[in-house]
Amino acid sequence: MAAGAFPDFVEQVGLIDHHVHGAFRSDGDEARFQNSLNEGNTEPLAHPEDTYNTQIGLAIRRWCSGILDLPRHASPSDYWNRRSELGELEVSRRMTRAAGVGDWLIDTGLDAADYLSRADMAEVSGGRTHEIVRLEMVAESLIQEIANPSEYVDEFGQRLQELTRSAVGFKTVLAYRAGFDQNLSRPAPAAVVEAARRWQENTRAGTHAKLTDLTLIAHGIYTATSMKLPLQFHVGFGDRDLDLHKTNPLHLLDFLRSPEVRETPIMLLHCYPFEREAGYLAHAFENVYIDVGLAVNFTGSRSRDLVARSFELAPFTKILYSSDAFGPAELHYLGARLWRTAITKVMSGWIDDDDCSEADARKIVQLVAHENARRVYALP
Ligand SMILES: [Zn+2]
Repeated sequence: MAAGAFPDFVEQVGLIDHHVHGAFRSDGDEARFQNSLNEGNTEPLAHPEDTYNTQIGLAIRRWCSGILDLPRHASPSDYWNRRSELGELEVSRRMTRAAGVGDWLIDTGLDAADYLSRADMAEVSGGRTHEIVRLEMVAESLIQEIANPSEYVDEFGQRLQELTRSAVGFKTVLAYRAGFDQNLSRPAPAAVVEAARRWQENTRAGTHAKLTDLTLIAHGIYTATSMKLPLQFHVGFGDRDLDLHKTNPLHLLDFLRSPEVRETPIMLLHCYPFEREAGYLAHAFENVYIDVGLAVNFTGSRSRDLVARSFELAPFTKILYSSDAFGPAELHYLGARLWRTAITKVMSGWIDDDDCSEADARKIVQLVAHENARRVYALP
């Protein structure tokens, strides 16, 4: 194959973003933009301008300036002025279209008026969208609606069954609500009903609207695994509400060994800084898949090493692309941009060192870019 053709191939390969949220819909101030460039801090930043002095700040000025007709490395003030001039919706349109993503698998658990809905994302980006349903949200609406907690088990199962007609997968935020260092065996129906009764009483007394009860979360997970659709787990890096050390995916070993879950694809999202542990699990369990989304954006130029580490133990048929973008559409674009840059660098090295042929490298790129996601989620 012609020299130099491989980078062009990576530039043009179509992506499926298998974990993403809506982009901003309406205009906001610079503080909203700056705060959106910090994932971990849940409070308004005392010095929001510091977010430009980060890997993601550099990456946005390097890669996103051109999409807004600015020279590379535009200053933060020039970047913000141009962004404001275009308006949020136009920024969202340009960035999502520049990403080269054909299908967005949208986690609708963070939907709010400020963000483009699934239908809007399709229109603005020109791509297709698919829904991933959060199990904890199904439970949170169910507990408000049922008259008697004894109906909880049957009703929850029926709702998930109905959702399998429209959704392509489920997601759990167990990492946020309880952590992985727990007994994750399947709870007995009587224990589930008792937990539902307690939760409903608390909810009616005005507390605990959010599902944090381990029995009910585990019940949600096992009910979902019986539906056989892929089940996404938030793993690792996220905001500081989660205890990061309790989201090491190795805590999931007993759960993954359980025969009941072996037929269900388990999708470990983000994984940073546990991408090596996640890679081991993808190697050890037929039904485990990984991505390094989210951290690719936040590690900027260092994402090349992160992407390289994701290609250690995990079989290439078990690695997927995602951005986990949410809010500023720079994140929807940058996830794809940095991934293309990283994978070109990593695999060109393999080709140069004769670790693989260029044909092998192209095949691997196609698997991770879209083939694995299309197969696992059974997308059309
Ligand atoms: Zn997410």
